[in-house]
Amino acid sequence: MITRETAGQRYFQFESLLSTKLTQAVFSRLGGVSPSPWKSLNLGGTVGDDPARVSENKKKLLAALGYSSNQLSQIRQVHSAHVNVVNKPVSRNSILMQGDAMITNTPGLLMLMRFADCVPILLFDPENNAAGIVHAGWKGTVKEVASEAVKEMTIQFGTSPSDLLAGIGPSIGPDHYEIGEEVIEKVKSSFENNWDQVLVTGLDSVKLDLWKANEISLRKSGVKHIEVAEICTACDIGNWYSHRAENGKTGRFAAVIGLK
Ligand SMILES: [Zn+2]
Repeated sequence: MITRETAGQRYFQFESLLSTKLTQAVFSRLGGVSPSPWKSLNLGGTVGDDPARVSENKKKLLAALGYSSNQLSQIRQVHSAHVNVVNKPVSRNSILMQGDAMITNTPGLLMLMRFADCVPILLFDPENNAAGIVHAGWKGTVKEVASEAVKEMTIQFGTSPSDLLAGIGPSIGPDHYEIGEEVIEKVKSSFENNWDQVLVTGLDSVKLDLWKANEISLRKSGVKHIEVAEICTACDIGNWYSHRAENGKTGRFAAVIGLK
């Protein structure tokens, strides 16, 4: 990923998704107004931070990209594999749709999702001018929400998965993501043929490689061009929120994508 700095904010972009037709960014936690433990660009509305500060942070983020709040689409994230097709702005204050992916072919919208260790996945179909964003924690990963988003883009927009450009963004890495028996079993049943690539077995622990798991999901659905950021949120809580590294007391950073 490449780093951009603007007016106190620092955001990252996938090199392989750079296009004059697309806005895409994963925002670090820098440059917002929230105090500890949400310091500072917290976009999470359900983590105890003052809604007025979250709203101010959102304004700053939008200004950094030249968007206004009436262009924003957000959904309630529920660790599912549900994909929402969005063709108009969805305000956080209206009755939210829920799900863990949004796809669109409508220009001018900015789709935003919130993260603290879960995996942001951005999708761009330059042939049909369509885009998608996915939120994949371990639950969404074993439900293969990334594959579902690709499938839905194929149905809705005629996307050929082989044309898709995908980015797997900053999230907890295989070095930090120790998991227990329940999760191990679910990973094994979901990734029947590949779980040995997804589970990292140490002397007395098993860790989950969410990057590899989502890459496998995307490849299974025919995606060929995949950029993996390989940035671990738990390794760098200066830039990122990490639910695991900060014992659940933290904020949410934003990933966004939209067609110009
Ligand atoms: Zn790490």
